[in-house]
Amino acid sequence: MAATPPHSDVAVIGAGLWGLASAWATAEAGARVLVLDDGEELAGQVAAGMVAPWSEVEDDEHPLHAALRDGASAWPALAERLRAASDVDPGFRRTGSLAVAARPAHLGQVRRLREVLRRVDHDATWLTGTALREREPGLGPSVAGGLELADEGQADPRRTLAALRAACERAGVRIEHRRVAALRRTGGTVTGLVTDDGTRIDAERVVLAAGWACGALDDRVPLRPVKGQILTLGPRPDAPTPIRRIIRTPDVYLVPRPDGRVLVGATSEEVGDRVVTAEAVHLLLDEALHTVPGLGALELVEQRAGLRPATPDGLPALGVSADDGLAWAAGGYRHGVLLLPLVVAAAEALAGGRALPGRRDALSPDRFAAARPKAASCV
Ligand SMILES: Cc1cc2nc3c(=O)[nH]c(=O)nc-3n(C[C@H](O)[C@H](O)[C@H](O)COP(=O)(O)OP(=O)(O)OC[C@H]3O[C@@H](n4cnc5c(N)ncnc54)[C@H](O)[C@@H]3O)c2cc1C
Repeated sequence: MAATPPHSDVAVIGAGLWGLASAWATAEAGARVLVLDDGEELAGQVAAGMVAPWSEVEDDEHPLHAALRDGASAWPALAERLRAASDVDPGFRRTGSLAVAARPAHLGQVRRLREVLRRVDHDATWLTGTALREREPGLGPSVAGGLELADEGQADPRRTLAALRAACERAGVRIEHRRVAALRRTGGTVTGLVTDDGTRIDAERVVLAAGWACGALDDRVPLRPVKGQILTLGPRPDAPTPIRRIIRTPDVYLVPRPDGRVLVGATSEEVGDRVVTAEAVHLLLDEALHTVPGLGALELVEQRAGLRPATPDGLPALGVSADDGLAWAAGGYRHGVLLLPLVVAAAEALAGGRALPGRRDALSPDRFAAARPKAASCV
């Protein structure tokens, strides 16, 4: 392998969905880009990939909701562009989703979702259990009512990662398997980094896209891991996939892939390990089979756990710090696939020397500054 160049226009830390998207977009804009990644498992290898801006809205006033809508509406164009740049289909499809009540306790929550959607002018009609079963005959008798969200969909995160890697390669991005030990600053500005073998690399711009682990390099955005356990069921010759749309209850989501697999997710745990527990498998399967009984005949083909990078306010950190010029692409949390178009837009703004378009303050990496004790790791 050729030696690592001592200087790049852009050095990206992390080769997950957000690091690769940042690398690809800046390289397409003409920059020489180096990506360094320590090879830990990526959240995108595990994610369901829902592009579902409506069914997770809890508060219509929260700036996250506007970001989710922006991300979802830009996904079709991103999928097309990525396919053209890589010859890999990222698997974006508007399959539609049903947000349903499968237990009496769910009814209030799904009705509340409908109220919140009304306030943002997204009127979702309430459907009875019978009407829902006409759309999805696989839904069980316990499903009492719910909403159809026809414009929700999904991308396939593993295919998206493959597409981004291929697009990066074609755009001349260099990707190396190395851990970054520290950022380097000159006169208060980030001017490069040091790898764990002591190699110093200079860069005009450093993009921190190290997922929940960003804090080991810079603590201005308090990121933490939120573990998600998720199962994959596969069809069998005598047990085809019983659903076509994404089905969600307040306790579980079911995401059917075009090849017949169904993802059953996901737990949300404030821990940082990737262990798949018997309890989580039991809970997920119990909720899944209660909602769509026919899933019980499918094969359990995979069980995984991943770590979502979460900030205290649930919003990502996107854009350049006014403090020291460090560019952030982190904090995708439960929406890191959906928000990918915003990551590309932020990287393009970075490459063009422009500010992040729209909602700059809400997503700024400097927004936690007041709460932060001073001194980050640097050499
Ligand atoms: C179970 C589950 C389900 C999900 N479902 C959805 C969904 O339906 N829809 C949706 O939009 N999102 C979903 N997500 C969220 C989405 O997957 C994440 O937000 C997104 O993948 C995060 O990508 P990332 O590139 O920021 O981080 P990561 O994937 O964590 O990548 C960061 C990379 O940086 C590397 N790194 C860290 N420190 C260093 C260092 N010092 N030096 C070098 N490299 C380093 C890490 O090893 C890693 O490879 C889900 C996530 C999970 C876990």
